[in-house]
Amino acid sequence: MSSATVTEHCPHWCAGEHAADSYGAAFYHASETTSVTISRPSGLTTPDRLDVQTAQYLPDDPGEPAWSPTVEITVHAGGRYRLIGLTPEEARDFAAMLASAADMVSATGGGGRGSG
Ligand SMILES: [Zn+2]
Repeated sequence: MSSATVTEHCPHWCAGEHAADSYGAAFYHASETTSVTISRPSGLTTPDRLDVQTAQYLPDDPGEPAWSPTVEITVHAGGRYRLIGLTPEEARDFAAMLASAADMVSATGGGGRGSG
């Protein structure tokens, strides 16, 4: 665990511009949101959109250490949504699982991904 305190600037991945004197208004840093639209027949309970965003929440007291950044997946389904927060490490594992699962069913032949 690092003992990083609340920084004076946004982290490099933050899409906003949160100056140190505006912490009262902005309580977290957030990256730009990327979305995957899922094309499925409506009426099913499958999600219709996934948003992915990196966020770092800040404590009320600027003297306290900032919380660790999290990778947030927002699952939109039927007008509702559910938020899943992952640590960067968990998100990386998850992404690798998705990629390898996709590779398994991908019919493009000759993936060309080396193992090193
Ligand atoms: Zn920021």
